[in-house]
Amino acid sequence: MVYAGAPAETALSDSDKINLMNLDLKAMEAFVQELGAKPFHGRNLLKWIHRHGVVDFNAMTDIAKSLRERLTQVAEIRVPEVVFDQPSRDGTHKWVMQLGCGNRVETVFIPETGRGTLCISSQVGCSLNCSFCSTAQQGFNRNLSVAEIIGQLWVAARRMHKPVTNVVLMGMGEPLANFDAVVSAMSIMQSDLAYMLSKYRVTVSTSGIVPALKKLAEVSDVTLAVSLHAPDNALRDQLVPINRKYPLEQLIPACRDFLNGDRRRKITWEYVMLDGVNDSDRQAKQLVRLLQGTPSKVNLIPFNPFPGTGYRSSSPERILAFRDRLMRAGIMTMTRKTRGEDIAAACGQLVGRVQDRSRRGLAPAGASVGDIQA
Ligand code: SAH
Repeated sequence: MVYAGAPAETALSDSDKINLMNLDLKAMEAFVQELGAKPFHGRNLLKWIHRHGVVDFNAMTDIAKSLRERLTQVAEIRVPEVVFDQPSRDGTHKWVMQLGCGNRVETVFIPETGRGTLCISSQVGCSLNCSFCSTAQQGFNRNLSVAEIIGQLWVAARRMHKPVTNVVLMGMGEPLANFDAVVSAMSIMQSDLAYMLSKYRVTVSTSGIVPALKKLAEVSDVTLAVSLHAPDNALRDQLVPINRKYPLEQLIPACRDFLNGDRRRKITWEYVMLDGVNDSDRQAKQLVRLLQGTPSKVNLIPFNPFPGTGYRSSSPERILAFRDRLMRAGIMTMTRKTRGEDIAAACGQLVGRVQDRSRRGLAPAGASVGDIQA
């Protein structure tokens, strides 16, 4: 059963009340105006919910009592239900959130010195079918609502003692295939009334849906990470099948345009290191040529295996050699450390759980994200 495009509320709420977690600032202002109140109450509501974590209207002391009463009748603030909360030995932390209809998604917090990165999901499952990704094996179930996306940050911000300084949309799903909800949720992340994250601290990771990228450039200035994984179309067609629709000659210029001439910005290219597949010196050279003229940094991700996969990660020596080639050509290159392995929380292993959906293959009951060094 596919729920694509299902109304936002269905996942979190079984009542007729509007879930205010689904509303960004503009929507919140419009909503209070509909109730006959001044738009600034919308700002107050956003602040109470996201900055202060308050979900009880009665505790919102600067909102008039009559409006609070009205809100109680027609609205609610419903956050995702955490069914699993597990710390890893290395400080990584994973939550599994229950979304209704048996659907679950996973969120991972990765603390490092001076920063705390939260990796969040945007869909239950994924339709893109990248050959090395375990989320692909469960197929696509549905888009997350704004409430479910921002709810992951709401939960992490309340439960962690360390602040969330960075958010990466690198969990389950293709964020740009759930465009409107993702853009709304990111605007809440960036809002001064809510999480106050700068455009450099919110990163959206995409497989490269070119028309959506162009649209994103018009409405958002967040940081872009692109799952490249291959230096030529023939190989990328195999690894990231969406490449057949939007090949490199469309993708690369669209990414360059995204930067809009801002010299402080760079595209982060993600490149999973697959033994004997995309990790040769020749391919490193091809990659250098491909990225010429685009302000870039490259994140090499050691492949994280999962049951049933035919791939293996490149050896640490090969990854180092590949990285050296790129560095010598002047491309800033980092190797992502794998973290949270003991709790199945490393990159590309996010699988969640989906009801009413026959899985495409074996899927471990775990999640994962690597160490994000955007
Ligand atoms: N749909 C988005 C987000 C995917 S997850 C995208 O394609 O960018 C974030 C990153 O993890 C992507 O670069 C993805 O290609 C990578 N990834 C997926 N499976 C992996 C695995 N098994 N090992 C390492 N990285 C993986």
